[in-house]
Amino acid sequence: MILEVVQYGHPVLRQKGERVEAVTPPIQKLIADMLETMHAAKGIGLAAQQVGRALQLTVIDVRGVTDRPSTMAVDGAPVSVERHMPVVLLNPELTPTGPPATGPEGCLSFPEVFADITRPESVQVQAMNEKGERIEFHCGGLLARAVQHETDHLHGILFIDRMSREVKLELKPELDALQKATKAALKK
Ligand code: ZN
Repeated sequence: MILEVVQYGHPVLRQKGERVEAVTPPIQKLIADMLETMHAAKGIGLAAQQVGRALQLTVIDVRGVTDRPSTMAVDGAPVSVERHMPVVLLNPELTPTGPPATGPEGCLSFPEVFADITRPESVQVQAMNEKGERIEFHCGGLLARAVQHETDHLHGILFIDRMSREVKLELKPELDALQKATKAALKK
């Protein structure tokens, strides 16, 4: 089932997600719906907050982007990114491992808004997967960017919080208009 993706101005985007302790049937259904919603929207990541649920759950699939490389390694050995997609992360914990890198980002909750964001180039990820198993991997490039963007969502942090002051000022009219439209729609 395709879920509604909430937009900037909706309060749930600012809520810190509750930890998911077990992959129950309702969580399995939510994961399946989030994957379907992300793929339908041609996104590379979707956090539970973006479908109105304040949970530490995100889904990621970078296969749709071919011009921005990703890397992945398990126990120090490189693995196929392609074969590990989509990735489902519950309660992810990140450890930055690379120098800062700047690259363009968008967000399904901010239609038409794109900006350069600086984040560590690579991260070590520990999480639980959709089977309830502990997983750990290292990632770089676009995948590392997506993992960090989505993990931010799980803590109520948005990519606009990571923009430079100049960029945010430039985008202010657009952001204010989006926030206002979302709030007006919520009141109805
Ligand atoms: Zn986002």
